[in-house]
Amino acid sequence: MEINYKINDGRVDLKSLNADELTSYIESLGEKKFRANQIYQWMHEKLVTDFDSMKNVPSKLLDTLKENAHLTALTPIRVQTSKIDGTKKFLFKLYDGNVIESVLMKYHHGNSVCISSQVGCKMGCRFCASTLDGCVRNLLPSEMLDQVYRIQDSTGERVSNIVIMGSGEPMDNYDNVCKFLELINSPKGLNISLRNVTVSTCGLVPRIKQLADLKLQITLAISLHAPNDTLRKTMMPIANKYSIEEIMDACRYYLEQTGRRISFEYSLVKGVNDTKECARELIDLVTGLNCHINLIPVNPIKERDYEQSNKEAIMAFKNKLEKCGINVTIRREMGRDIDGACGQLRKSYMEDSHESSSND
Ligand code: SAH
Repeated sequence: MEINYKINDGRVDLKSLNADELTSYIESLGEKKFRANQIYQWMHEKLVTDFDSMKNVPSKLLDTLKENAHLTALTPIRVQTSKIDGTKKFLFKLYDGNVIESVLMKYHHGNSVCISSQVGCKMGCRFCASTLDGCVRNLLPSEMLDQVYRIQDSTGERVSNIVIMGSGEPMDNYDNVCKFLELINSPKGLNISLRNVTVSTCGLVPRIKQLADLKLQITLAISLHAPNDTLRKTMMPIANKYSIEEIMDACRYYLEQTGRRISFEYSLVKGVNDTKECARELIDLVTGLNCHINLIPVNPIKERDYEQSNKEAIMAFKNKLEKCGINVTIRREMGRDIDGACGQLRKSYMEDSHESSSND
């Protein structure tokens, strides 16, 4: 049988297969179907990290699997806990030595995990640390899942919400992200409702439309950050490819297909996009669309000169939107004391390890 999910050395990436695919694979090894059920349960329900923990699977089959297949299990190499709000940042090592970061945020309504979808990112947004060294590779579905599995396992508490807002552009790793959504939602796995999943994109228009056609109940978040193309182009290179008008069309289509309200993210940068005029333009842009705006005080990174808007500017911006009936919230800055912004922890880890290896 043809399997699409493989790691570098050609072995099958077992955890990226859905139950039917796993069954076909196990049957292709001359084994009975119920073995696939057992293995699926060990991986996606009991969250084991190695083949030897699969106690009811015969050792002969486990040996065959070890030879031909890979069981993805991320290794935590650093965990930072915020003293302010208990947010935890995890740095995980992948099988090929790459590192990614994930964040656990505790809210009243449950535990939310922010996962990465790629190692690095190629979108080049000016305020973002994830993109400074480009995109190294896409994450496999199993590698997105295991961020959630390892965090749930290490805390012993159920993860109820997922946001794909870590490093990477999920719509640039479309097929693997869709497979991740299928697996995380599976009743045979963590069974997380897609209503509790948010996918954030900088605005890859054809992919947004493709996603809309799947009619999933996920929340789509658009990283807008500017109310007109001229300004957006100075902040986000993707604005040279797709105009705001095209993005708004795609959002309307998404809403039509799914009935789900759109979220817009708007990171406020001092003197750049936090002016009265910007607020006015933003109001004109979204009025009449069923949406929610999330204002994020930009988290400055040392490689760029963007500064966070001051409190008054943030409140004035919010009030102006609210007065016009727009749903708007200011995102609480979670984990500000622990390399809060996307990609900052990974970046500081890479710099540390680079420094220590060049000092050797
Ligand atoms: N590539 C996707 C998801 C990753 S980023 C996207 O663009 O949506 C998640 C959100 O955090 C995006 O809205 C992104 O623009 C924003 N972001 C990234 N770095 C930031 C920073 N330093 N300060 C504030 N927001 C940031």
